[in-house]
Amino acid sequence: MDRCILVINCGSSSLKMAIFSSKCEFIASAIAERLGQPGASASVKGRRTEVTLPQHATHADALSALIECFHENNTITNGLLAIGHRVVHGGETFSQPALIDDTVIESIRACENLAPLHNPVGLAGIEATRSLFPDVPQIAVFDTAFHQSLPPVAYLYALPRYLYMEHGVRRYGFHGTSHRFMLTEAARILQKHEADTSIISAHLGNGCSVTAIRNGKSVDTSMGLTPLEGLVMGTRSGDVDPGLFDYLRRKGFSAETVHNILNQESGLLGLSGITNDMRTLIEQADDGSEAAQQALDVFCFRLARYIGAMMASLEQLDALVFTGGIGENSERVRARTLDHLLLLGFKIDTPANRVHGDASGGHIEATASRFPILVIPTNEELVIAQAALKGAKNVHD
Ligand code: ADP
Repeated sequence: MDRCILVINCGSSSLKMAIFSSKCEFIASAIAERLGQPGASASVKGRRTEVTLPQHATHADALSALIECFHENNTITNGLLAIGHRVVHGGETFSQPALIDDTVIESIRACENLAPLHNPVGLAGIEATRSLFPDVPQIAVFDTAFHQSLPPVAYLYALPRYLYMEHGVRRYGFHGTSHRFMLTEAARILQKHEADTSIISAHLGNGCSVTAIRNGKSVDTSMGLTPLEGLVMGTRSGDVDPGLFDYLRRKGFSAETVHNILNQESGLLGLSGITNDMRTLIEQADDGSEAAQQALDVFCFRLARYIGAMMASLEQLDALVFTGGIGENSERVRARTLDHLLLLGFKIDTPANRVHGDASGGHIEATASRFPILVIPTNEELVIAQAALKGAKNVHD
């Protein structure tokens, strides 16, 4: 058995881990959830037994426990060829994956205040695997890298220019690995070359973003300087009036409180007062909760507005693509969103919308739709494994 590739994806309160063969074939995966909270849990996919974690387990705790479990069940027998890490913010420093060394770690740390929920946990994952596997090449794959092709009209804010020049205040965009994968998969499904493919990609998970891809390049995206801008998300507000900050400050709210409200207490959770989880929200809406219904409505309306806005960056549209936990699984969200876009010519096929979201993905547009509409399961782990393999090959050659 040859050496394998380990992929680590540290979310704000979760850790996803996947193991691939040296040919990037999927072998196994594991997930830890509610990290840093009471009731943290971890499990290896396909095995019923939970992996025991301490109360309030950290990302590093979960990582060690899951790696030990993979050793015990002989998933990792012959050591590791490479480790790939998802890193959320790479600023303007990284437009490609990077082989991790002390300088790369410092550059990732320098971006920490741009992605306060994500870069610190990403670094925790990197540091934990560096001490566990000091001799294995580790590669960072950045969510921002794919969006480094944004043109100035899309990345500049209408702010004094020195804020960009001296402080890096611009739009960066996120979920690049997933949007990039949507391009590859949509091109495959539509039988086109990536360089001739133009899509709007909606990644809807706990974090949500929409990206316009013109001829294989990201040209506009809904997230900005930080992953807070744009769509309504699980706990993040997305767009608000910047005047809100001054208004709340005058009312006695500290900057830190406003930051926490916008990042952790808003979005679906804030609007519903019940949950940040779309599945639960839909159940509550069906049980008659008006707040849950309203949260769902605001989520879909904002998404529709952004899909419309993305049309401004395209000359043609080969497909609108839905992905992420919500995009892949929620026929309700897809249908409600597209109801707002009839004027643009998007029309969904109800039976197809009901059945799709399975592993193969597929078309959900009606025959009368002006554009194809696709559901495509994302696979960020695979893209990271491929980048890690490439990075490790460069080291070994
Ligand atoms: P992350 O951004 O953490 O990777 P995911 O992509 O796994 O998150 O998406 C999580 C979201 O997907 C949650 O809001 C969850 O409720 C939602 N989701 C998963 N399955 C369904 C479903 N069948 N219907 C509606 N929402 C779903």
